[in-house]
Amino acid sequence: MKNVISVSIGEAALKKGKRNFFENKLLGKIRIATKDLGNPKVYRELGKIYIEVNEDNIERIINRVKKVFGLVYLAPAYRIEKNIDDIRKMALEALEDERRNRDIKSFRIVCKRADKKFPMNSMEVSRDVGGYVLENAKDLKVDLHKPDLYIYVDIRENTYIYTEKVYGYGGLPIGTNGKGLLLLSGGIDSPVAGFMIAKRGVLIQAVHFHSYPFTSERAEEKIKDLAKIISMYTGEIKLYSINILNIQKAINKNCPEEEMTIISRRFMTRIAERIANKNYIDCLITGENLGQVASQTMKALNVTNSSVDLPILRPLVGFNKSEIIEIAEDIETFETSILPFEDCCSVFLPKHPVTSPILKNIERSEEALNVEDLINNAIDEMKITKIGIR
Ligand code: ATP
Ligand code: MG
Repeated sequence: MKNVISVSIGEAALKKGKRNFFENKLLGKIRIATKDLGNPKVYRELGKIYIEVNEDNIERIINRVKKVFGLVYLAPAYRIEKNIDDIRKMALEALEDERRNRDIKSFRIVCKRADKKFPMNSMEVSRDVGGYVLENAKDLKVDLHKPDLYIYVDIRENTYIYTEKVYGYGGLPIGTNGKGLLLLSGGIDSPVAGFMIAKRGVLIQAVHFHSYPFTSERAEEKIKDLAKIISMYTGEIKLYSINILNIQKAINKNCPEEEMTIISRRFMTRIAERIANKNYIDCLITGENLGQVASQTMKALNVTNSSVDLPILRPLVGFNKSEIIEIAEDIETFETSILPFEDCCSVFLPKHPVTSPILKNIERSEEALNVEDLINNAIDEMKITKIGIR
């Protein structure tokens, strides 16, 4: 019976001198991720992490842990004693087990010996175990190039045998690369943008702008649902909700209609920057893209940048919409993103937004507004929710 999940660490382990640090981070993340699934024992052994499981919870734990960044793959494994007799028998059992599900005509043993004290080297183990399996399953062949089944034998403090790898997302453990504030709208793009940056080890918090009561409470719920899905990857998310209705009204009343979108965006980034600075956050993250909609031009991005000092990360800038949707489907935000609730931007949507805004002109338009007061009032009314399962 499979009794552990073997967790293979990727890039994290490649960084010399940082290995211990990353392994411990990842171990902690896995513990948190599995806490409500029976709080299984999680431990390290010579460069890999192991989770003790049983038949009842293995599937659920794999699905949960797969979403932790910093691991390459998970392998449901048999943990056994470190002696060649047990290894032979278990390799055969692993093969028979797999054969119950599918047709297998060839196999290959792949042995890794992390414990150099083990008396046989990895070649010797592979050959020995391969011979034993052949003797007991006479209809099979060894195929070193394209076998139907790989049987992995990892010799560490214990021995681990597995035949299946479930790939995760790679990346780096959350919290190893600073903090970012995601501007989270209800669309398809921003959840994907948050996912991408979080994957690089960045701890994510989120800010959402709404125009209640012009936008509904259900629209607000949708944002929380999206944040909850993202939190499966990132851990708990602090969500700041800001009502910008008064700001939009002020812009609508005092500025040229076609500048509504760009000026609103500059308010969003300014407010986001205030929140970021107060919370020691190093960057803003948006789902902006080049050319996807009329307002997303290089010039508009530049004019938005000029409203703040913090860098704005836009991981989707070079993606096609179809590529973004593919990721959104994979990370399970798509279905929620396409629910048809109104967005604050649609409240005062200009018919012809400026596509080539000029900074000087925008700044002149903004002189008609009391920018500082508008920002401070919006922040004063801010609501904070903590979202997530771990
Ligand atoms: P998305 O699918 O993420 O909504 P979009 O294609 O609709 O993106 P825009 O509406 O132009 O594009 O928004 C661009 C980016 O600005 C969003 O990805 C998001 O990061 C930010 N943004 C837009 N509206 C909001 C909002 N109401 N609250 C927070 N951030 C927002
Ligand atoms: Mg949008």
